[in-house]
Amino acid sequence: SGTRHPSPPGGTHLTVLSGPTAVGKGTVVERLRADYPQIWVSISATTRPARPGEVNGEHYLFLTEAEFDQLIETDALLEWASVHGSARYGTPRGPVLQAISEGREALLEIDLQGARQVRQSWPDARFVFLAPPSWEELVRRLVGRGTESAEERARRLETAREEMAAASEFDHVIVNGEVGQAVEDLVGLLGL
Ligand code: 5GP
Repeated sequence: SGTRHPSPPGGTHLTVLSGPTAVGKGTVVERLRADYPQIWVSISATTRPARPGEVNGEHYLFLTEAEFDQLIETDALLEWASVHGSARYGTPRGPVLQAISEGREALLEIDLQGARQVRQSWPDARFVFLAPPSWEELVRRLVGRGTESAEERARRLETAREEMAAASEFDHVIVNGEVGQAVEDLVGLLGL
């Protein structure tokens, strides 16, 4: 969308966290949610089906293709992208603006394509790249979680290689060696 957002008074409140597949973004955000409830974390809309244990409205807003189209048409998304060639994911704009107007620190965990869109519409946001300790460790984590087929894994690693090359576009890089440390580093950037 072409909507640009002015920076709110009192500094940067919007943080965008991105990084390659299997780096542990989900785990970092989960820990952040549990330990730092004062930080507002965006709930993305997605067209992918819910996995076992995922709750609609808590982990994601699980939408039909038509419902997602509707959000795009009404300019209700701050950014959106097709991720891993299958499903679409997007950030509902209203709740982000609401959180920031309340003076809260707001965090988006989105892919690189989404981060680049936010960079256009919200250049004053804080852009954080979560990196693995090494390429070998990233491969080990992806294989270790065992949720993808060999073919899907190869596809994701291809994307991950491109995403790793984009780390320099970000304001900060946090190495996710140990999740607790990564969360502390992130919270430190947020000034909390
Ligand atoms: P998963 O399906 O494993 O939960 O997430 C797959 C990917 O979608 C992750 O890389 C995650 O960063 C990305 N993602 C989740 N929500 C959003 C969103 O709202 N926008 C964009 N652009 N990517 C998202």
